[in-house]
Amino acid sequence: MTRTAITGGLVVNASDSLRAAVLIDGETIVAVAHEDSDLVRRFCEDAEVVDATGKYVIPGGIDAHTHMEAGQDPTTSSDTFETGTIAAAHGGTTTILDFAAPLVGGSVLGAVERYHDKANGSCAVDYGFHVMTRDVDATTFAEMSMLVDQGVTSFKMFTAYPGQWYSTDDTIFRVMRHAGEIGALVMMHAENGLVIDVLRDEAALRGDTAPVWHSLTRPEALEAEAVHRVARLAEVAGAPVYIVHLSSAPALEEVERARRRGVRISAETCPQYLFLGLEDLRKPDFVGSQFVCSPPVRHEAHNHHALWRGLATGGLATVATDHCPFCMHQKELGLADFRAIPNGVPGVEHRVEQIYEGVVQGHLTLNRWVEVCSTQVAKTFGLHPRKGLLAAGADADVVVFDPNRPRTISAQTHHMNVDYSAYEGQTLPGSVVTTFLRGKKIVDDGQFCGTRSGGAFLKRSVGS
Ligand SMILES: [Zn+2]
Repeated sequence: MTRTAITGGLVVNASDSLRAAVLIDGETIVAVAHEDSDLVRRFCEDAEVVDATGKYVIPGGIDAHTHMEAGQDPTTSSDTFETGTIAAAHGGTTTILDFAAPLVGGSVLGAVERYHDKANGSCAVDYGFHVMTRDVDATTFAEMSMLVDQGVTSFKMFTAYPGQWYSTDDTIFRVMRHAGEIGALVMMHAENGLVIDVLRDEAALRGDTAPVWHSLTRPEALEAEAVHRVARLAEVAGAPVYIVHLSSAPALEEVERARRRGVRISAETCPQYLFLGLEDLRKPDFVGSQFVCSPPVRHEAHNHHALWRGLATGGLATVATDHCPFCMHQKELGLADFRAIPNGVPGVEHRVEQIYEGVVQGHLTLNRWVEVCSTQVAKTFGLHPRKGLLAAGADADVVVFDPNRPRTISAQTHHMNVDYSAYEGQTLPGSVVTTFLRGKKIVDDGQFCGTRSGGAFLKRSVGS
C-alpha cells in the first residue's frame, strides 16, 4: 500500500483552514494532523513525503455537469470520457458527474446502461451519472426508483428545447413529486423554450443569423420566468429542485426569493457566466460561435457581479462547467444560421483555477472557493463525506494548489480535445501542481501520471 504525507501546506476545507499534514494510506486519508505531532513524524518515516510549503491543500474538485461524447444532432461533443477526464485531472477535478441521455423512445435505465458502457475503463477520474428524462411514463417512474438503488440519484428535466427535451409543467410536477418520494433530486434547465423558439425563428426570418443572436433571442426574463415557475412547482410538489447553469441576475433573484419562502431550491452557475459576455459572441469571423451555449453568455456588467455575489452569499450553491466541447469545424454547422451552431463550451479543465480568481478579487473566501467547487457539490449529489472533504476516512482525492504560480489558458497547452479555448489568453493567479485520486498521484507538475482507467463509478446516495 502506498503511504503519502503531504506536509507544510495550508489545508483548506469548506469549514476551516489549518496548517497540517494530510496523511494518506492506500486510497484513504487516515489523518489530518498537526505537523509537529508524533503521529506525523512516525508516518513520514516510511511514507512518500510531498512538500506543500507555501501551497494550499484542497479536496479534489467535483464537476457536477459535464457532457462527454454527447450526441447533439447531427454531431457529438469532441471530448471522450478518456480525454475529458484527463483534462479534468490536470485542473484538479477528481470527480465528474455526466449526463446519461436516453435515445428517442429509449428508457432512462437503458440510457444509464449505455453510458456505463461508454465510461467503464475509460475514465481517469471518478465519475457518476445523472439521467436526462424524455417520454416520461409509468415505466419511467418505476425505473427512477431502480436507478436510485443503482446510485444514480438525480434526474434532469427541461423547460427548454421543445420537440427534443422539453417537458410540460404537469410532467415536471409529477417527476418532481416522485423524486421527492424516493429521495432523488430533479435538476432543471430553466429557460422558457417555447417563447425562445418564437424569437429565434423571427430573428432568422429577418436575416439576423450571426452568433450574437443566440443570446439576444434568449432574454434573461425568460430564464427568470422558468426559474420562478419550477420553483413554484417544487414548492407544491414538496420536493427539492436544483437549477443547472444559472446565468443571469434576474434568475438568481427568483432563486433567492423562493429560498426566502422556504422552497428547497439550489442553483449552480458556470465559469462562462462569470467571465464571458455578449462582446465575445460579437467577435468577427465566426469566432463568436465559440461562445454559443445555453443559457447564453450575457451582457457582462450587472450579471457577472450579481453571480459572484450569489456565490459568496449562498444563492448559488455550486460551480459546474456544463463542459460540452465542439471543434470549429463542428461549430461551422451554424455558419449560415446561429440556430444550427452546436451548443456548448469547453471548460472541465479550468474551473478550480478560474474560481480561485474570485478569491484573489475578493469575491470569495478560500473556504467558500473549496465549498462551491467541491464540498457542497458532494453534499448535493450524495457523495459527502467520502468526497469533498479532507478528513480521516475520506477518499484521498487531494489537490496541491500553488496560489503564486499563474496559468495562462490556451488551446495550445490545454488537454481538452478541442481546437480552441473560450478563455484564450486568460491569465489566472494560481494553478494546480499535483492531483491525487484516491491516494494515487495522477498529475504531477503538469504531467499526467495516472491511467486512463483509474477512475471508478461512484454509486451515490441521496443528497443532503
Ligand atoms: Zn448541460
